[in-house]
Amino acid sequence: MTGFRGRGDNVALRRFGAIVEAAPDALLALDEDGTILAANAAAATLLGFSQEALIGMDQRSLLAAGSRNEVEQMFQLLLRQPQEQHPPREMSWLHRDGTEFSAEVAAALFPQPAPGDAPAETDAGPRLLLSVRSMAHRKTEDTNLRQAMSLLTATLESTADGILVISNDGRVAGFNDQFLTMWGIPPELMEGDSDEPVMRLIVEQVADLPAFMARLGELQDNPAAESHDVVDFKDGRTFERYSRPQRVGENIVGRVWSFRDVTPRRKAQEQAQQAMLDLAAQAEKLRTMAFQDPLTGLANRAVFNEALVGSLQEPRLKTVDVLLLDLDDFKEVNDILGHQAGDDMLIEVARRLRGCVPTADVVARLGGDEFVVLLTACPDADAIAECIVRCLHVPVTISGTVLRPRLSLGLASLGQDSVGPSELLRHADIAMYAAKAAGKNRFLRFHPDMMQALVQRTHMESGLQLAVPRGEITVDFQPIVSHRMGQVVQLEALARWDRGGERVPPSVFIPLAERTGLISEVGAEVMASAMVQLADWLSEDPSRSLAVNVSGVQLQEPDFAGTVLGLAEASGVAPYQLVLEVTESVFFDADCSLINQLSTLRDAGARVALDDFGTGYSSLGRLQDLPVDTVKIDKTFVSMVRTGNERLPILSSMINMAHSLGLTVTAEGIETPAQADYLTALECDSLQGFLFSLPEPGERLAHALDHAEEALNALKGR
Ligand code: C2E
Ligand code: MG
Ligand code: MG
Repeated sequence: MTGFRGRGDNVALRRFGAIVEAAPDALLALDEDGTILAANAAAATLLGFSQEALIGMDQRSLLAAGSRNEVEQMFQLLLRQPQEQHPPREMSWLHRDGTEFSAEVAAALFPQPAPGDAPAETDAGPRLLLSVRSMAHRKTEDTNLRQAMSLLTATLESTADGILVISNDGRVAGFNDQFLTMWGIPPELMEGDSDEPVMRLIVEQVADLPAFMARLGELQDNPAAESHDVVDFKDGRTFERYSRPQRVGENIVGRVWSFRDVTPRRKAQEQAQQAMLDLAAQAEKLRTMAFQDPLTGLANRAVFNEALVGSLQEPRLKTVDVLLLDLDDFKEVNDILGHQAGDDMLIEVARRLRGCVPTADVVARLGGDEFVVLLTACPDADAIAECIVRCLHVPVTISGTVLRPRLSLGLASLGQDSVGPSELLRHADIAMYAAKAAGKNRFLRFHPDMMQALVQRTHMESGLQLAVPRGEITVDFQPIVSHRMGQVVQLEALARWDRGGERVPPSVFIPLAERTGLISEVGAEVMASAMVQLADWLSEDPSRSLAVNVSGVQLQEPDFAGTVLGLAEASGVAPYQLVLEVTESVFFDADCSLINQLSTLRDAGARVALDDFGTGYSSLGRLQDLPVDTVKIDKTFVSMVRTGNERLPILSSMINMAHSLGLTVTAEGIETPAQADYLTALECDSLQGFLFSLPEPGERLAHALDHAEEALNALKGR
């Protein structure tokens, strides 16, 4: 017999042995006194004895002390209840090397008695077959399982994700604390019988409930599906939701939900996204700023320059025209109506300009009130220039005031001789300057003769610098008469410049002196000279006075009042006999210092006259706010009187308004008796003009005074 070894030659045992030799469990056959009759190979391996050594051994010697009688007890039990099923027992065995091990023991009587037989009827009495299965591997499995479970629990509890497991029948099969925390679910709610309160809590928090429920439904219909999406909360949090089926082997027994709070990540992402957008917007803004005039939206100087250079390099372009324009007296709009009005005017001008020019051509603002147009391939640039002057002059209401923008425009075109971009622009500039000099509100095309004028202007500037030291600045006096008093009451000092035997008109050199700052020197010279020359005339009659024109630039000097009073004192002229003529524009951006200068002078007795009244953008309403004593109605209003029979409410309003404010009124530019009569009838206080006398130098003062009085008398005799 090979394999299952047993004592004797029992046939049944032999057959049995062949079957069980290869069994994985240790099998032992025992006789009634516990002696081992047979043992298979697995028994030899389990117990450490050879099969031969086992045979004949008492099974008790193989059991540990505590288990020694257990086999015997099982034997007895089987003998008593042979038909019952008896569960295996766990008992401690001893290995040959003395180590104890647990094994599960199942026992059966052998041979199996037929129902009703007594077990002892077999030839050799009842025998016991033991199947001994070591529990060592099961112990390891249990430990592994426990370890795995604790690892799993630890992992579940320590993870930042909230985990919920729902079984197929919809019950909560498991969750971790984090799940409760994240969803704000009180733990006791999970212990309740119903899932409803939990579900209600969840539903209340979700921002997009329909989408949330739709996804749940989809997964319910499709148990094997995995899903990964995002759940937004009403309170602004965002969870990442991951779901996969829970499987045991091949079977799906439920669904695992895992939630991760990604709010900080989401916020960081959103911030990063916003930062990117801001950056892009900023870059775009910078880009437009680099090419666009921010106020008007027109192109800027850089764009114009590039376009000009480009057009001159383009051989196919037959015509290139540059139109340079500058608003006339724009400063007054700014000064009188404020910077917002100035901006509004520039925006309107830009809009109109754009409308006059073909869309393909560049219209740019160069800065301030200076604009430029580049026409390429335009058949008639003159027509466009004319259109611009005309269109811009259309009245526009700004800050409640109706204004008619005026501009001077210079036009230069690419001629036969090739000129560079800067030269073309310079030509346009020269033409624009010429347009201004020619009376403004017009356009002029560049002509080489204009260069001459430019040269002269530059030349004049250097000449003016030397005018005072060279004694070229002199003073003419023009009488101002009082009709009521029947005499000359005032003389206005008017600056004269004789340059190399040629007289330069004040309308040319005064603006030049103001621009260059030389006006201070010129003004001081005129004032000093006038005082010295008129000191005697003034001292003869305290009601006489001397009027001197003062520019805004002079009033900016910190000690202007001191200088004037000093000059008066030095020449023996009483300050109350001084009248300072200013134009209303000096008040528009008047600072304290300017007002202080005038106050000091008025406190000392000097008077202030508002020259050229009515020519600016100002209104009669402003008069009451200005620190002045007299208004001088400009000659343009006086010239409206032709026959003396016309109705001119503007003149009567001006005079009445001034009088009602306690101011005296002088009318300038009286050339005809009709004008003198008209103004006298309106109770104008004094009159000035060629009718009475031209401005005359000091040496001809007597002549001027005589002429004026003669004219007065002639008027009275009418
Ligand atoms: P203004 O102060 O209004 O001076 C009156 C101007 O009108 C003078 O011109 C005078 O010659 C002119 N005029 C006087 N009567 C008549 C007339 O009946 N008909 C006409 N058509 N004109 C008349 P002027 O001398 O050419 O001076 C022009 C302007 O230059 C002055 O206007 C004044 O604003 C300025 N100016 C003259 N001298 C000085 C000065 O010393 N300092 C300053 N800052 N400006 C001065
Ligand atoms: Mg004047
Ligand atoms: Mg005047």
